[in-house]
Parts: sequence; C-alpha cells; structure tokens
Amino acid sequence: MRGEKFLNSLNDGRSVWFEGKRLESIRDHPAFKGTLSTIRDLFQMLDEPHLRDKVGFKIPGRERYAHSSFLVPYTQEQLTQRNRSFSYWSAETHGMMSRLSDYARSLITGWYAARHELKALDPHFEHKITSYYEHARDQDLILTTAIIDPQIDRSNGLDDSRIAERFLHVIRETEDGIIVRGAKMIATGAPYTHDFVISSFLKFTAKDAQHAHVLIVPANSAGLHIVCRESFADQFEQNHPLGAKYDEMDAVLFFDDVLIPWERVLLHGNSEKVLALRANKTANALAFHQNVVRFVAKLEFITGVTFAVAESIGVTGFLHVQEKLGELITQMDVIKALIIAAETQAKPDNSGVLVPELSYIDTARNIGTKFYPRAVDILQQIGAGGFMQTPSGMEDFYGPISKLMHLYFEGATVSAEKKVQLFKLAWDLIGSPLGSRHELYERFYAGDPVRGYANQYLGYDKDRLIDPIWELLKQASKGGIARV
Ligand SMILES: Cc1cc2nc3c(=O)[nH]c(=O)nc-3n(C[C@H](O)[C@H](O)[C@H](O)COP(=O)(O)OP(=O)(O)OC[C@H]3O[C@@H](n4cnc5c(N)ncnc54)[C@H](O)[C@@H]3O)c2cc1C
Repeated sequence: MRGEKFLNSLNDGRSVWFEGKRLESIRDHPAFKGTLSTIRDLFQMLDEPHLRDKVGFKIPGRERYAHSSFLVPYTQEQLTQRNRSFSYWSAETHGMMSRLSDYARSLITGWYAARHELKALDPHFEHKITSYYEHARDQDLILTTAIIDPQIDRSNGLDDSRIAERFLHVIRETEDGIIVRGAKMIATGAPYTHDFVISSFLKFTAKDAQHAHVLIVPANSAGLHIVCRESFADQFEQNHPLGAKYDEMDAVLFFDDVLIPWERVLLHGNSEKVLALRANKTANALAFHQNVVRFVAKLEFITGVTFAVAESIGVTGFLHVQEKLGELITQMDVIKALIIAAETQAKPDNSGVLVPELSYIDTARNIGTKFYPRAVDILQQIGAGGFMQTPSGMEDFYGPISKLMHLYFEGATVSAEKKVQLFKLAWDLIGSPLGSRHELYERFYAGDPVRGYANQYLGYDKDRLIDPIWELLKQASKGGIARV
C-alpha cells in the first residue's frame, strides 16, 4: 500500500534538524504527524479503484497507476486529466498544501517530454532525464525544488567571497560525481521529500561556472542537512483545524561536501545552459500549470470561509460587504478563466507534447501574488473583532457557564458553537502563524513578484502595441493644424 510505503521510506538516515536536535525519525513527531498522515491518505488514493482515475493514469503497457503529474500530455483529454488530479489533491487539502510534489514532478515530466530538444544542452541529458523520470514515476517519489541562494547580502555578487563560499558550488569533481558545498533556501516539504531538484538561479559569468548547476539530490545524501523552521502544526484540532493537518514544513538545505553521482548531475559548469534549461517552455508550462490549478482550490476555500463568516454575523446586506464578496468571486473567475484560456490555446511543441499557453499561466501566477493577500484583507475586514470574540477552547460550552456561552456567542444564522468553530477556522486561515506563512507563500512561492511582472513586460511583443501609436501620429501630422 503506497501510503504506508511512503511513511516507511522516510526512515532512510536523512539528517533533519528541528529545535536543536537531529531527529531519529519524523514519522511520529508532533511537528510532522498530522501532515504526514494527510500525505499518506493522498498517496493511498492511487491504490483505491474508485479514486485512482481521479488522480492517476495507467502507465502505458503496465497495470500500475502513477500520479498524473507524470503524465506527458499529447491530447486535450490528457491535459484535462492533469488538471483533474491537481484540482483533486488541492481540494482534498482545502488548497492548504501547495507542494504535494506535483509541481516538481511536473518539472521533471516536462524536461523528460522535451528531452529530444534539450539533449542539445548536454549529450547525456536525454539518457539521464529518461532514467530519472521513469524511476521517480514508478517509485512514487516525492520531490521538491530548491533554487534560491541564501539571503546574506543581496547587494553583493560572487566577487564577495562571503557570498561565493555560501552559494552552492562545486568544490571537486571525482570519478563518481561532483562534490558540492553551500546552501539553498527554501525547500518546502524538505523533511519528507525523497529527492531535491536543485538548480542555480542567477546568471553567472564563465569564471563563476562552478556555481551553475541542475542537480537531483537524494534527501539522505551524506553531508546534506535539512534545517527546519519553527513548526506551525498544532495537535489541538478544535483551535487549529488547518494547522493540525496541513503544515507543510519549509527548510533550508546545508550541503556540507555532498557527493552528487554523475547520473544525477543534469547540468553543471555552464550558466547559459542552466538558464536555457530553466527557461524551457514545455517544462515551465506543465509545472506552472499545476501552480495555478491548485491556487483555485485555495481561493475557493478562503472565499467559502468569508461567505460563511459574513452570513454568520448578518452582514451580507451591507453594500460594501457585497462589493468585497463580489471581488472574491471575480478573483476566482479570473484565475479559472486564465486556466481555461491556457488549456484551450495549448499548442503542440516540436515533439507533439501539448503545451498550455504560458503567457496566461504567467499572468495567473503574477496576479495571484496580489489576489491572495487581498482575499486575506477582505476576510479580516468582514470578520473584524469577531476573530477575537472566541473562547480559548470549546470546553466552556459544556461547563458551568454553558448557558451563557450559548447565549452570547450565538450568530445571526448559526448556533454559538458553530459560529465559534467557524471563526477559529477563519483565524487559523489568516491570523495564525500557519495563516501568515500562507500569505507569504502566495506572495513569493513563484519567486520575487516584482521580477515576475517585470519579466512579463520584458518578454512581451511590445511593437504590436507601440507601432499603431506612431502610425496614428504619422497620420495626424499629415492632417495639418486643426481648425478651432
Ligand atoms: C513560504 C515559502 C515557501 C517557498 N518554497 C519554495 C520552494 O519549495 N522551492 C523554491 O525553490 N522556492 C521556494 N520559495 C521561494 C523562494 O525561496 C524565495 O522566497 C523567492 O524566490 C524570493 O526570493 P527571496 O526570498 O530570496 O527574496 P530576495 O530576492 O532576497 O528579495 C528581497 C527583497 O529585495 C528585492 N530584491 C532583491 N534582489 C533584487 C534585485 N536584484 N532586483 C530587484 N529587487 C531585488 C525583492 O524585490 C524583495 O523585495 C518559497 C518562498 C516562501 C515564502
């Protein structure tokens, strides 16, 4: 059974650091237990005959199912199948678990799908990506990405030795592979991932070529340390219904002279080639498609909570509240419409892979960085002080002041108990450490949003819009001086 197999696979000697200790096992640790049981249940779906078609596909020529993030889409139906699996897992976790591996798996699937084109970057690439793709698909591997170098001093580059030493780089090549040293931030899901997809982010000059790489690194590699942030998991499910199940842990990775076998070195030593791989349209479109499909589940969840909060305190009749609730519907529809546009305007690449239209996906990713903080803002404005009008637990509903509790916590349309439960959920969503982390996540998961928008401008066909302006002015200048 895949759920259990996943949990057992984590006892592989990995070095996970939490609150000053190296954890023997994360499986039953309070910081991970709820999240791991959520992931176990999701994995289990591939073994359930009535669920597996929702999240998986039958591997060609085999009886076995794999998750649809590994499906290379050649038809609209296959693209829809990918969407269906991302939507299903996201909805099952109320949009709260964004990195269930389907993003990083999609990246690997995309590089595999574009392997004939990408072999121009390195003659071994095609063989390496094919063997890794098949291995990851057949073993149900959980993958996550870590691309960004640690925040030390962003005003300095590799000419500063403090930066050069700490950004991930090759220190030695051996017969077996390369030895790397340095750090990467942030890898979501790191403690329970099987492999990390690591790449460099910046464009380096030839003299800094040892910093350019695309690697696949097993989580239990000797010398690799996974350093977790504080846990936002809370076993007290009544107060933290989301934190109890959905805290996807973020971590920083320290590479203390880690050997990466040649088979897992996809590229190294050439920044131009690394950037070309990272810019590959097929892979990015498949991976970023997952980002925006899962985002819909999150917007739907926060919208549902906001509607329920507004109804529960009888404020839906006020015009400004209706305006804000309408804005939430607009947000959902904008993202859904962009996904439909991206899917219906998908075009085959040179290998016949059906590639969603990336410009619409980029738009959805960029605008999403503003939508989610705005949705949080709206929920806060509508719930107002009600988020604090909650008892510390539900026990008082059954104790000596029970009667007063039912009297004073009652809502417009719901019982006191239900209203308290709802507001606790809403606070977990927007006010708890987990909630704040989600707002930060939506602002930054896709990289720096400022540079995301800027890249949209830089890559846009601007002449199409500017040329008619000059044409209009040319015509106008021929018309002479206008009469008053
Ligand atoms: C909760 C969370 C989870 C994440 N999970 C992952 C993950 O699993 N895998 C992954 O790969 N990434 C992940 N990320 C994204 C990633 O780690 C970075 O946070 C993101 O790319 C932004 O980079 P940064 O945080 O280093 O910000 P910085 O680049 O340090 O930016 C800080 C500020 O300075 C400005 N700035 C810095 N440099 C420049 C410049 N050159 N030009 C203009 N402005 C500049 C930025 O606009 C910003 O305002 C995650 C992020 C978050 C918040």
